[in-house]
Amino acid sequence: MSITESLARVQERIAAASLRSGRKPEEITLLAVSKTFPPGQIRAAYDAGLRVFGENRVQEFSGKIGSLHDLRDAEWHMIGHLQTNKAAQTAELFSHIDSVDSVRLARKLNSAAIDLGKKIPVLIEINIGAEAAKSGVALDSTELEDLLNAVPDLPSLDFRGLMTVPPFSDDPEQSRPYFRKMCEVFHRIAARRLPAVQMLTLSMGMSHDYEIAIQEGATCVRIGTAIFGERRSLGSKL
Ligand SMILES: *Cc1c(COP(=O)(O)O)cnc(C)c1O
Repeated sequence: MSITESLARVQERIAAASLRSGRKPEEITLLAVSKTFPPGQIRAAYDAGLRVFGENRVQEFSGKIGSLHDLRDAEWHMIGHLQTNKAAQTAELFSHIDSVDSVRLARKLNSAAIDLGKKIPVLIEINIGAEAAKSGVALDSTELEDLLNAVPDLPSLDFRGLMTVPPFSDDPEQSRPYFRKMCEVFHRIAARRLPAVQMLTLSMGMSHDYEIAIQEGATCVRIGTAIFGERRSLGSKL
């Protein structure tokens, strides 16, 4: 199946899931996860109408962006775990960073953004399943509060919401309670009207569970396989 065809299918299902849950399809941003795929495929997805892309490795993306600079209105989102020593390079290459998960990382990104003279839209990643092997702030610690408290000192980051990857299961229904909990956390933070924190984006749902994520309040779904096909490289699931 071509990218155009698989994209049309995904968009149909996003629209159907939105309407079923009383939401407008335009409220949902489709972020295309292009990790492991070459620039040619990204360009094909762009030509098919996609504008929002996600990559999870700085190194890999730095090798691809060179041939994609002409796609001026594309957004490039970092969605993978970030080492603080990659903060400067990440701030330079990406337009959005969706995986901020510590005050330390946020401070490094803020400094890098100041050096670059830009303001970077970011999301806080939550480890909603409290999995040892996953990144994201844990809800059973003070990490989230620490980050929210640090926001006023990080004026070159634009805090816009939350992102999560729930524990993987072959049965997408298993994701539902995690998505529901994320939506509660999201609304609880929004209700506090914290200075410089906007709650606009709730990024959750991947190829196997995005319809459920939409039912549970996602405003952004991150989809790789269902658009580009299976990834071949080893260890590239996340
Ligand atoms: C790879 C990845 C996705 C997309 O996964 P698919 O199952 O291919 O849709 C979404 N989010 C993150 C953080 C990822 O690393």
